Amino acid sequence: MTAARLLIIGPQGSGKGTQGERIALTYGVPAVSTGDVFRANVKEGTPLGLQVKAIIDAGDLVPDELTGAIVRDRLAQDDAAAGFLLDGYPRNLGQVADLDAFLDERDEPLTAVIELSVPRDESIRRIALRAVEQGRADDNEESIAKRLSIYESETAPILDVYRERGIVDAVDGVGTLDEVFERIVVALTARGIVAG
Ligand code: AMP
Repeated sequence: MTAARLLIIGPQGSGKGTQGERIALTYGVPAVSTGDVFRANVKEGTPLGLQVKAIIDAGDLVPDELTGAIVRDRLAQDDAAAGFLLDGYPRNLGQVADLDAFLDERDEPLTAVIELSVPRDESIRRIALRAVEQGRADDNEESIAKRLSIYESETAPILDVYRERGIVDAVDGVGTLDEVFERIVVALTARGIVAG
């Protein structure tokens, strides 16, 4: 049996948040979403929230140092000892190096990277829907365009690094929630990662 030290990666609107939560529940590991952590802090008006609000609303990336410290703190907690599901981190090559340093020290490498792909027009359609449903401040046209372009230029290249390690599973993100989730389970099972 292989530990579930997972990363889910995909463009905005690919459904990675929803699938990530489901994976976490099924595999008995915490879902660690940096976007959720930032949004909760903004909502509560904490010092961190005040620091990052303008950056997030504009669709820019929060500095690596700040984001890395949050993730390291979270992964060092007891409930992440047996595994975790990262959603939204790492997002660029610098963050990959930061995460590697942390996980190497613990001798606990990532065991699978789920690449959720959806065509760009579908992803834009889903973000527009979410904007109506959830009213996220960063789901405005300008911010969405910036986030998708950062995804393409900075985030997509990290997949090459993980592909070289042979840990990437490409999953078609188009379909019902159940259909997509089933594809993920099949891919993880093939790696010996089983529900806990
Ligand atoms: P998400 O919900 O993952 O799309 O994240 C929402 C926003 O939070 C992003 O547009 C960034 O401003 C910020 N954010 C989330 N994760 C990261 C990260 N790993 N590095 C830098 N900024 C991040």
